[in-house]
Amino acid sequence: MKVKITPDCIGCGACVAVAPDIFELDTKTMKSVVKKQPVGQQEEELSKQAADVCPVDAIKIQE
Ligand code: SF4
Repeated sequence: MKVKITPDCIGCGACVAVAPDIFELDTKTMKSVVKKQPVGQQEEELSKQAADVCPVDAIKIQE
């Protein structure tokens, strides 16, 4: 699985709250960046949950 964040991100921080090991807010752009790609079932599940809570659908997941 690979996660990607599109420029649509508004920096709301929801994905960081759900999966802090995977996403973090860039302090300069105040947009989310992928800290590390998910490895294993738990991280993949959290990444999917983060994509679900993103209000602007900016998290894209490639299986
Ligand atoms: S949940 Fe979506 S809009 Fe909010 S910070 Fe994460 S990627 Fe950006």
